Amino acid sequence: MITVLSGGGGGAKFVDGLSYLKNNFSIIANTGDDIEIYGLHVSPDVDTIMYTLSGVIDKKKGWGIKNDTFNCQKYLKSLGYDDWILIGDKDLAVHIQRTQLLKSGKTLTEVTSELCRRFGLNIPLIPMSDNFFQTFIELETKSIHFEEYYIKRPEGKIKNIIYKGNDKAKPSQAFLDALDNSDWVILPPSNPFVSIGTILSLKKVRNILKEKNVIGISPLIRGKAIKGPLVQMMKYSDFEVNSYGIAKYYQDILDIFVIDNLEAGLENKIKNELGIEVFTTNTLMKTKKDRINLSKFVLKRMET
Ligand code: GDP
Repeated sequence: MITVLSGGGGGAKFVDGLSYLKNNFSIIANTGDDIEIYGLHVSPDVDTIMYTLSGVIDKKKGWGIKNDTFNCQKYLKSLGYDDWILIGDKDLAVHIQRTQLLKSGKTLTEVTSELCRRFGLNIPLIPMSDNFFQTFIELETKSIHFEEYYIKRPEGKIKNIIYKGNDKAKPSQAFLDALDNSDWVILPPSNPFVSIGTILSLKKVRNILKEKNVIGISPLIRGKAIKGPLVQMMKYSDFEVNSYGIAKYYQDILDIFVIDNLEAGLENKIKNELGIEVFTTNTLMKTKKDRINLSKFVLKRMET
């Protein structure tokens, strides 16, 4: 068995590629982006992965459901309610259903499993925790929820990333069971700080991973992110803004690191200074073929 820890961008594209080659793997989704909107439980990464794997994702936007309408929000706006986050009507239905199921007493793991069944998924998609957990970005003047930061993208220095709830939150039992049954853990090209790092911040997880075979894929190509605020986050951290910096963040858990051909110049530095095996390939997943090829490459490295 394999366990993949994932966010909703690079992670979702990677597990999509992997799903064409294998079905005996589990996906652990970051729930640090979860947020309450209109009293509804929104789970951005879970939904992006679920929509991607079931083929209903709006590929152009990279989030939400294709051909969705925004009538509810337009009407809300006409009533004087204007929100910073865009949620389509079908997407809203998913959040309503999730919230109803949670209110009936089911755990987030059970609810996610039920939603995934309705979307026809045959690969386990498991929330990292059933407990309250929210990632906040601390700026010079205020702290804001990561989802709000991601959408509004305010300028300015990031002082800290706060994992609210991680003093009490536990990894979900299904997550621990998946790890127990896995020889290999894959860290896809997700944001190390606010997707994978959030999952790693849960008690026990980093220590369990030290005992596993772990292979990661860099989310940076030529020191740039494909999407999202990773570079801005790294700029204010102690990590170099390139795949070496990413490898250093994962140094204690990573056995193999896959970096893009365009960062091949960093191969020796990562190997020699961090003691991590490095392989280079094309990591840009523009097409379905790219996604599958990257997964093939990763699986091959795991066999040798
Ligand atoms: P989020 O939840 O939306 O932030 O998504 P993730 O954390 O899963 O992924 C965000 C990261 O994925 C960003 O840092 C991107 O640079 C990276 N990413 C997105 N697409 C690709 C890709 O095709 N190749 C690589 N190497 N990285 C990617």
